[in-house]
Amino acid sequence: MTIPDSAGPEYDVVISGSGLAGSAAAILLARRGVRVALLERRSDPEAYKVLCTHSITANAYPVLDELGLVPALEEAGAVRNDARWHTRWGWIEPKAAPEGPELPHGYNVRRSTLDPLIRSLAAETPGVDLLLGHRVTGLVREAGRAVGVRVSTPQGEREIRARLVVGADGKDSAVAKFAEVPTKSYANGRFGYLAHFRDLPLVDGIGQAWFLEPDMAYAFPNDDGVTVLAVLPDKKRLPAFKENLEGSFLEFVRALPEAPPIDSAERVSKFIGTVDYPLHTRRPTAPGVALIGDAALTSDPLWGVGCGWALQTAQWLAEAVAPAAPAATGLREDLDASLTTYARRHRRRLTGHQQLAVDYARSRPFKAMERLMFAAAARDASMARHMYMFAARLIGPLRFLSPVAVGRALAVNVRRRSY
Ligand SMILES: Cc1cc2nc3c(=O)[nH]c(=O)nc-3n(C[C@H](O)[C@H](O)[C@H](O)COP(=O)(O)OP(=O)(O)OC[C@H]3O[C@@H](n4cnc5c(N)ncnc54)[C@H](O)[C@@H]3O)c2cc1C
Repeated sequence: MTIPDSAGPEYDVVISGSGLAGSAAAILLARRGVRVALLERRSDPEAYKVLCTHSITANAYPVLDELGLVPALEEAGAVRNDARWHTRWGWIEPKAAPEGPELPHGYNVRRSTLDPLIRSLAAETPGVDLLLGHRVTGLVREAGRAVGVRVSTPQGEREIRARLVVGADGKDSAVAKFAEVPTKSYANGRFGYLAHFRDLPLVDGIGQAWFLEPDMAYAFPNDDGVTVLAVLPDKKRLPAFKENLEGSFLEFVRALPEAPPIDSAERVSKFIGTVDYPLHTRRPTAPGVALIGDAALTSDPLWGVGCGWALQTAQWLAEAVAPAAPAATGLREDLDASLTTYARRHRRRLTGHQQLAVDYARSRPFKAMERLMFAAAARDASMARHMYMFAARLIGPLRFLSPVAVGRALAVNVRRRSY
């Protein structure tokens, strides 16, 4: 039996999913005077996303800062995510310019630390009701517009009404499906496995990524002395790889240039992975609905960008639909115009990144432009910084590949040798 709400919407916003995107959106909206129901299908408040290598790019730092999470993350041992990247031209080692500002940074922090932290902050935020064990099973619609959700709970089915329904429920978003938002899917030509290790020192104590064209691997130091190691080979290698998962993983890592000493490390997790992880792009709004995080756009895990974008899209949505303090009066009256603003910002900021990711997900060697930019970054400190700003998603493809940047890369490569 469905228990309907007795009188009108009890919430302004109902959010499906209390992962990074959903929890961040709940906090930022409630601080703007919005009444939020934050629904999570899992009942454990400590639940977290297991399939993730949790390197959070620097574009997310301002969101973590606005949320007030930076001190708690530092205290929990989150590691600032400096990194170096191996290419066939040598290592790209982004460093601050002499006399220049520090490079912006994000954090490497395990989801087992981060997800409970952000969810508990959401639960403590006045104006947020965190409802665990609540799975969204449908939308309530009136005149072609979503006006709430149907939910399955341990006590039975119920309806929760709200002016805005937010899908923050990950790449297979239930809200996107029920709102009939079309999904564009793009094949991923690589598979991936990861595991956590202790006593696995990394060169300079910082993250390492290996661009092996087309294969890929990376290693990130995390909180509590744990290093996460991931390999992302071309799918052609999958049948042989799966014959002996552990052996293949170790062999792959041992063969990496400047390989981390995996044989003396202690593995502290299972090997987990995914053999089919298509990229998804969805229109981020529908009547009465907004999608954030992976629900709107799922990129290639290879680039480690999804957590940062989950946090950023939550912030963009909150900024679009609700005025900040001191006004902080709840959702704007002109909700549809606000959703258009959000959708436009989402498209402008992420479409170009996703197009490049879709193309590289074909599991191919670098194209000419990529060779030009990666070679220059391996040879020149300012090009390495430029590459870092793009990888940290602090600049978009248009600035990354601006005529000035391409000209500089050409000059570096001509000076140093051909590419
Ligand atoms: C192998 C791998 C490695 C990755 N590594 C990185 C990395 O290093 N850095 C990075 O930035 N990104 C990485 N990502 C991507 C990152 O994990 C995601 O982009 C990020 O978790 C998206 O956050 P989200 O909040 O949108 O969704 P999720 O974290 O998926 O959260 C969705 C939430 O919704 C809940 N939910 C789902 N359905 C319902 C429902 N019907 N009702 C109620 N609740 C529901 C779920 O239980 C969950 O709590 C990786 C991904 C993979 C697969």
